[in-house]
Amino acid sequence: MKRWPLVYEEPLFRPPSEADSLILQVTVGCSWNRCTFCAMYRSKSFRVRTLAEVEAEIQAVVPLAAPLTRVFLADGDALAAEPAYLEAVLAAVRAHLPQVQRVGVYGDSRAILRHGVEGLSHLRDLGLGIVYFGVESGDEATLRAVRKGATAERQLAACRAVREAGIKLSVMVLLGLAGTAGSRRHAEASGRFLVAAAPTYAAALTVTPVPGTELWQQVEDGRLTLPDRWGTLEELAWMLEAMDGHRGLFHANHASNYLPLRLRLPRDRESALALIRTVLRERDERALVPEWARGL
Ligand code: SF4
Repeated sequence: MKRWPLVYEEPLFRPPSEADSLILQVTVGCSWNRCTFCAMYRSKSFRVRTLAEVEAEIQAVVPLAAPLTRVFLADGDALAAEPAYLEAVLAAVRAHLPQVQRVGVYGDSRAILRHGVEGLSHLRDLGLGIVYFGVESGDEATLRAVRKGATAERQLAACRAVREAGIKLSVMVLLGLAGTAGSRRHAEASGRFLVAAAPTYAAALTVTPVPGTELWQQVEDGRLTLPDRWGTLEELAWMLEAMDGHRGLFHANHASNYLPLRLRLPRDRESALALIRTVLRERDERALVPEWARGL
């Protein structure tokens, strides 16, 4: 990550595609912070930083920011901040960093639906260009089990609101999240969800139990069995099979994934399915990212 002369409240996360962006920490933590698999912001209590702090940081990077074209608003769901606050932040970015072409943010269904299409359209006019939304699953039972705090229907409505507002939408789902017992149901429902949501970008990451999380404890206690690498690949195949008719980029090349794939759908769907089936049939270890090289 490019380092800017700003003092962040760590840990700091951003999507891989925002590696070169200026990260402005407008909120600290996640306003929900209850998902059973997530440890990202456990150490933080959610709060919105003052506008004065954020404006001072924007001004501090002005002399260094000539090649800068993108800004990402952290932390977990900065879209949870009040509309007037976000409008002021976007206006300050536009005033002091006019070369910036796109501002991105993490958002979840609560925040997205609270803004609504009209509010989001206004934020788009002020520079908001992409929302990253971890829907995790399209399956109701899985969403309930991991305490996502939203139904698939609400998450779908949120996806549609972002697209209707003319903002790019990047959606993430988590392979393995329903364990071996719910694997196929989760995969197929998530595939169908992605088709219905029609995000600009879709990505499948692989769930990794993080010590201290509820999901990790469930695995430790034997209450949840996660699919192994072959089971995770099978899940990816079920998801792709359910994505008949999906158009757009679908990436499964995150550091957590066993078989890195970057697909343009529908063009690459059949060849990707053929590859996965071959790897599964031959149990070809060499095709997979070794366990030691995987990341969160
Ligand atoms: S997964 Fe997202 S919404 Fe859930 S606790 Fe983590 S940051 Fe918050």
